[in-house]
Amino acid sequence: MFVRLSNGRQIPVEAHKVKIIQRTDLPPVDQRLAAIEQAGYNTFLLRTRDIFLDMLTDSGTNAMSDNQLAAMMVADDAYAGSESFYKLADSVKDVFGFKHTLPVHQGRAAEHLLAKVFIKPGGYAIMNYHFTTSRAHVELAGGTVLELFGDEALNTDSTDLFKGNMDLAKLQAAIERVGAENVGYVRMEATTNLIGGQPFSMDNLRSVKEIASKHGIPLVFDASLISENAYLVHEREAECQECSIADVILRMMEFVDIMYLSGRKSAAVRGGLIATNNDEYYTQILNWLPVYEGFATYGGMSTKEVEAMAVGLREMTDPMVAGSGAEFVRYFVERLCEEGVPVVTPAGGLACHIDARRFAPHLPQNQYIAGAVAAAIYIASGIRSMERGTISTDRDPHTGAEMMADLELARLAVPRRTYTMSHIEYAVDRLAWLYRNREMIHGLKFVQEPPVLRFFFGRLAPVDNWAAELAGAFKAEYGAGM
Ligand SMILES: *Cc1c(COP(=O)(O)O)cnc(C)c1O
Repeated sequence: MFVRLSNGRQIPVEAHKVKIIQRTDLPPVDQRLAAIEQAGYNTFLLRTRDIFLDMLTDSGTNAMSDNQLAAMMVADDAYAGSESFYKLADSVKDVFGFKHTLPVHQGRAAEHLLAKVFIKPGGYAIMNYHFTTSRAHVELAGGTVLELFGDEALNTDSTDLFKGNMDLAKLQAAIERVGAENVGYVRMEATTNLIGGQPFSMDNLRSVKEIASKHGIPLVFDASLISENAYLVHEREAECQECSIADVILRMMEFVDIMYLSGRKSAAVRGGLIATNNDEYYTQILNWLPVYEGFATYGGMSTKEVEAMAVGLREMTDPMVAGSGAEFVRYFVERLCEEGVPVVTPAGGLACHIDARRFAPHLPQNQYIAGAVAAAIYIASGIRSMERGTISTDRDPHTGAEMMADLELARLAVPRRTYTMSHIEYAVDRLAWLYRNREMIHGLKFVQEPPVLRFFFGRLAPVDNWAAELAGAFKAEYGAGM
């Protein structure tokens, strides 16, 4: 909820109060330098005890509501036929309008099953943009991902309100080029994660569905970040301004053949699901569910999480919940713009994204610009961000060649209902300091490089002594303690 202060500034105000807290400490800069060194300059390998604000991801890190926690206490642990599952299926019916629900242990498990059923070796999945795990599963099934985004999608300094839109002319052309029979599905990802949490419009989704239907291709909707996409559509798209968030979601689902989601994001739980009204798709996926996930009424999730998801899906249609992340993201982005720090605009749904290429234009891309900036942010602040750039883009699976990412982003996720205004202001201050000292950031090189999803476990090292020098400059200004 935005309120206007008497000085004219609009600030997001939380529509909730804190009931349970978890302590977090700000480690001194020397400890931060030692910790990032030990973590191989990969923020994924840091430990919580060394982190002040954990902005690595919004996945599974959101604060749950009292009603979600309460629901967990009445979970039915039956292996088969659990009553908790039926509550989840009822929520899916009410919130999304689908009669079949298939629970899975998290979002990527849904992607695995969909790739298994729909992607043939040599086939294609067409997307507005890939997500790391969505691409990996298509490729592991022998398929190729085609990303058909518009011209503005990769412009990090933009006023385009729907950078997540699929380019319709490219979609038409791609289907004709590869043949409709070779396209497993067209996948639309809500609040397109890797290009800065950017939404697509209702109008675009409608047109994508028309083209896909004409060619008999199923439309798959990645709804992990659905409440943010719906919130931004409600805010930005004329035809949806009179609709509630719940209406926007239901209207979108009318264009969807198969919906899947990671419950770890908008729904503030841990788990995932696939849903559809198509009996044939349901049966095809159901056949594999017990092989990889679990019985059809828990799908690898704890029944406590099943209960909490049933509540979380309903709660995320409340505008106060749907906006709880997006509004803080907007404030964060606006404040950094005021400080002159280059961030992805317009503000998106799940995180504030530093455009590392504009932040550190002196770095060559083969020295992992976003990875270096993410390591530097940690040293300067104790804040953990995530590299979303060339490190997150695996090598070409056929040639082994390094593939330079379209964007080099250091993503500062804003877990929903978890951090407060003073945390955001602290982050803005330290990021502005780092930007003033950006020349001190140099590159990284791999020391250990895993073959798949290398960003998780890869270990790197600075190309020279820059990290220690950056820590020294910080200490000179702020003292050893902070
Ligand atoms: C997180 C995410 C996934 C993967 O879900 P997990 O629960 O992390 O496996 C897929 N798509 C999008 C858009 C996501 O944000």
